[in-house]
Amino acid sequence: QSIRTHATPDGDEWVLNGSKIFITNGIHADLVIVAAITDPGKGAKGTSLFLVDAHAPGFEKSRKIDKIGQHTSDTALLFFNDVRLPAEALLGDENSGFIIMMNELPRERLGIAAQAIAASEGALDITLQYVQEREAFGQKIGQFQNTRFKLADVKTEITLNRAFYEQCARQYAEGRLTADTAAMLKLASCEMQCRVADQCLQLFGGYGYTAEYPISRFYVDARIQTIYGGSSEIMRELVARSILGR
Ligand SMILES: Cc1cc2nc3c(=O)[nH]c(=O)nc-3n(C[C@H](O)[C@H](O)[C@H](O)COP(=O)(O)OP(=O)(O)OC[C@H]3O[C@@H](n4cnc5c(N)ncnc54)[C@H](O)[C@@H]3O)c2cc1C
Repeated sequence: QSIRTHATPDGDEWVLNGSKIFITNGIHADLVIVAAITDPGKGAKGTSLFLVDAHAPGFEKSRKIDKIGQHTSDTALLFFNDVRLPAEALLGDENSGFIIMMNELPRERLGIAAQAIAASEGALDITLQYVQEREAFGQKIGQFQNTRFKLADVKTEITLNRAFYEQCARQYAEGRLTADTAAMLKLASCEMQCRVADQCLQLFGGYGYTAEYPISRFYVDARIQTIYGGSSEIMRELVARSILGR
């Protein structure tokens, strides 16, 4: 609803102006899909999607944004200054951009949940290894009841989320995954990932806070998962609407 980038018709072409922030793979991209206002005043119903050549005149990219994690994934600002687009750059029907995006969001959220669950499993794997090697007060830290119970909780949470993920993946394959079910999955799995990364890092003690130990990377990489692709607050709102209405 707060999109300000707009495309104006000019003869057989469109003229695109505006900018986008936090675009994953923005630096590497040769072709981007841009949501732009084509019917001002109509909000979501006046939004269209365009396929934009990143080498077109007037298309500019910022430098890579300096993030606290996910360093292997570039994130950039994109600027459009009178970028001329051919008529065939319009993706789908004019003013149908919002509907197309809404239809695609469950798939994106399923993908983010897959990352959340696999990353949590990875964090658990390296933590299991560490607690069976590291000793404190004359015993392996994996023998302390606190460690055993924490890791039992982590394993249980991951197993529950994986089961829900498999159910959603099956629904997606059958064309039945709804927006609110995908929102529940993204909410549950990403919040879990942050808890898991935090609890696993704790078991590494001071070493966990160093860049030398990969658990610290699990920790910083996890933090964005409850923010992008629709934040946890927005996911809760979607779920609440499905049970309480607007
Ligand atoms: C690394 C990274 C990669 C990204 N990749 C992409 C990308 O490829 N493409 C793309 O389009 N975007 C991308 N984003 C943008 C991302 O989706 C947004 O940052 C995210 O949706 C949150 O929007 P915002 O930053 O404007 O926060 P805001 O909307 O300002 O939200 C700030 C806080 O307010 C809360 N809030 C906002 N609205 C409500 C509400 N109605 N009810 C309750 N709480 C609310 C939010 O949950 C959040 O906690 C990326 C962001 C990052 C950091």
